[in-house]
Amino acid sequence: MQTINTLLEQDRHHVWHPYSITQSEIPVYLVKSAQGVTITLMDGTTLIDGMSSWWSAVHGYNHPRLNQAIEQQLHNMAHIMFGGLTHQAAIELAQLLVDITPAPLQTVFFSDSGSVAVEVAMKMAIQYWHAKKQTNKKRLLTLRHGYHGDTFGAMSVSDPDNGMHSLFNNSLLQQLFADAPNCGFYDACTIEDITPLTHQLKNHHQEIAAVILEPIVQGAGGMRFYSPDYLRQVRELCNEYNVLLILDEIATGFGRTGKLFACEHANIAPDILCLGKALTGGYMTLAATLATDEIADNIRQGEPGLFMHGPTFMANPLACATALASVKLLLESPWQDKVKNIATLLQQGLNPCQQYEHVKEVRVLGAIGVIELHQAINLQSLQPKFVEAGVWVRPFNKLIYLMPPFIITDQELDLLITAVVKVVAEM
Ligand SMILES: *Cc1c(COP(=O)(O)O)cnc(C)c1O
Repeated sequence: MQTINTLLEQDRHHVWHPYSITQSEIPVYLVKSAQGVTITLMDGTTLIDGMSSWWSAVHGYNHPRLNQAIEQQLHNMAHIMFGGLTHQAAIELAQLLVDITPAPLQTVFFSDSGSVAVEVAMKMAIQYWHAKKQTNKKRLLTLRHGYHGDTFGAMSVSDPDNGMHSLFNNSLLQQLFADAPNCGFYDACTIEDITPLTHQLKNHHQEIAAVILEPIVQGAGGMRFYSPDYLRQVRELCNEYNVLLILDEIATGFGRTGKLFACEHANIAPDILCLGKALTGGYMTLAATLATDEIADNIRQGEPGLFMHGPTFMANPLACATALASVKLLLESPWQDKVKNIATLLQQGLNPCQQYEHVKEVRVLGAIGVIELHQAINLQSLQPKFVEAGVWVRPFNKLIYLMPPFIITDQELDLLITAVVKVVAEM
């Protein structure tokens, strides 16, 4: 007990956590280990994981197949520079990603995190137009309520009202925004939904390199679901106005929405695709930016004849080997049935929350369940209640949401949902 308190005290003083402050009053919990969907704290408390460590741990924790992939790779090399050298894990992973993503995507750029994958996508789009001597086309058009990461380029295309823009105003690239659609997943996309984007394209297409958005689910910017019909129209508009389409599937990729990639709901292909989060099954930090041959060919033929990006830890072998094992494991598993089953149980289990006055809406898509409240939650009082109830749930703003590992059993999911409903009822 003494060591736990000492460690937590050191953490409080010296360690930054995501979107937090040092010496915060909001508790953090010391984790000892995690297995399957169970997180074990240092004091012995066990929690059922409702977050998949932010969309990523789709196979749960400590999976033998993923452990084995890392151990095998470790015997050969943990890392090797990617400039001038290559390795089997990166090649096989790239080939697999090309095979399972929409057909036009043929090239893979590996990087270390989702935010960097977005930076790479933005740079590819700008270099593409530069190579085609259309150097005016260097701005990005995106949707309000979006989230694309925390680095400067990614921040510049994330929701302007969600906090970071006013703070970093003078240091951010000035991008173009359109109101997000209001049509739900099952609705048709009306003219009111698409007009804001059409309007921006009509007025600014000569300076726009690409539209960037999260297909079907806007994640950290509000957990909003929208219609595939909208996404289809965006693809058509991009073609019509000669603008590239970048899809950020860092959150939605690898089955979370019920399709392997969310763009499959609309049957469209982007020009550039960003992947991350569940790519390694939540084991390691790895991201990928896929692009068409059209983009690769133009960048090769243009000035300066090189794509100007190259991280030190590009295509880290441990991460690539784990990702390869994780994607194969996913494809071999009945993930579609699992996600469908999770969706059904989330819908049934969370629906009773609609009756509470403080709940605005309950919505479910694939293995994502969202309870939107009328008012922002108080994390300091709410977080311990979830832990006391034996579940790991990390709400933000007005949103309490669940996206459990796909391997969760009905019984575990029932415990998770029951605990969440109880906490919401008592709010
Ligand atoms: C999490 C996320 C990112 C950023 O990924 P990091 O690995 O945190 O840098 C970008 N886009 C979307 C849609 C995300 O959900």
